[in-house]
Amino acid sequence: MSLIVHKYGGTSMGSVERIRQVARRVAAAKDQGHDLVVVVSAMAGETDRLTDLAYEICADPPAREVDMLISTGEQVSASLLAMALCDIGHPAISFTGSQIGMLTVGHHRKARIQEVHAERVIEKLRQGLIVIITGFQGLDVEGNITTLGRGGSDTSAVAVAAVLKADLCEIYTDVDGVYTADPRLVPNARKLKHVSHDTMLEMATLGAKVLQSRSVEFAKKYHVPLAVRSTFSDDPGTLIVEEISEMESTVLTGVTLLRDQARINVLDLPNVPGIAAKIFKAVAEEGVNVDMIVLTENNYGGTDISFTLGIGDIKIAHATAERICNDVSAKGVTVEKDVAKVSVVGIGMQSQPGVAADLFDALGSNGINIEMISTSEIKISCLIKSKDVDLAMRVIHERFKLGEDAVIADKETQA
Ligand code: ADP
Ligand code: ASP
Ligand code: MG
Repeated sequence: MSLIVHKYGGTSMGSVERIRQVARRVAAAKDQGHDLVVVVSAMAGETDRLTDLAYEICADPPAREVDMLISTGEQVSASLLAMALCDIGHPAISFTGSQIGMLTVGHHRKARIQEVHAERVIEKLRQGLIVIITGFQGLDVEGNITTLGRGGSDTSAVAVAAVLKADLCEIYTDVDGVYTADPRLVPNARKLKHVSHDTMLEMATLGAKVLQSRSVEFAKKYHVPLAVRSTFSDDPGTLIVEEISEMESTVLTGVTLLRDQARINVLDLPNVPGIAAKIFKAVAEEGVNVDMIVLTENNYGGTDISFTLGIGDIKIAHATAERICNDVSAKGVTVEKDVAKVSVVGIGMQSQPGVAADLFDALGSNGINIEMISTSEIKISCLIKSKDVDLAMRVIHERFKLGEDAVIADKETQA
């Protein structure tokens, strides 16, 4: 007998009928003799609805109270699923993150799981119950409810699987696996049978929201066997594995898109040592993650610094940049909100020259302006205007022929 963790996302839990469907899938796995822990998201749209309510009542709601509010969506779906299971003769019990000692650190709305005290889960499994757990939430050291960032139920599931040493963690969602690009944006995107941890981590970080990036970090660190599958089919989905064999590897695995980015430009800073540290230290102290950074000497001998960040942090980052700007008598701060980041990801690009040139050409020859570039060994990212994202995704996917079986890829690996 093995222990399996299932995770069901918002669309999968989106209505009473869909919750019943999930219950039948969970019951079928239980009937095969497995122990089952199920982590659930809120019903589709619920987290957005609750977040909007917070901003309707107050322009700047306290993050602690936002967490109190938005964590409730998962409590609704967890209890409904437990009821649906009991109704078909499979005793189940639901717990919140707090009830199973899911302890977190860090800021509200982007807390990180530190420990899970799963004794209650183990006890209920021993009694033969199916255990349902609310995703997306935990408890900080002071006893406040926290949430793990959008898409955080994936991370809850993998963390629970890691602690319970589960034999498998299956992420059930509304697509049947990980694709070379978001199949909603690129119709001929190809489903991948396997993706390595490192590639998946990079893709998730760069916008492939099919998995929250931290869930992949946990899977890698704790060796959790992880699969992405569809709630609505029996397709085996995509396995996230330690490594892809050379036969299966390609230069590029996928193209990703991160919307809702913003860019802050701090103009004409004194060109002296320590100035960048001053800005980024102040921004980091506010809990803001900065992404791309460009630092240039301008025509007047001063320094211009531009950086990008998620749009949710723009208010606090802008105010912080203005403060530093005044402190050091810089010229001013400008903000751009209509930008997004497209990236190509692939382990193989380390040994393949010309990927960057091809990427820039694909964008340039389609009239798409590149505003910033950042690279690592396994990815190249470009900041572009939001209006260009759909075209950019398609032309990049096309240029690198990601929809076709790769030349050196093993046909067997293509789904
Ligand atoms: P859930 O609510 O089940 O957690 P999400 O909306 O968070 O589902 O993630 C699934 C979505 O991720 C898909 O509907 C798809 O549009 C999007 N997506 C983005 N990039 C990819 C990719 N490379 N492969 C598959 N899906 C992707
Ligand atoms: N309900 C949360 C969200 O919409 C968490 C999740 O679905 O993973 O982001
Ligand atoms: Mg998700």
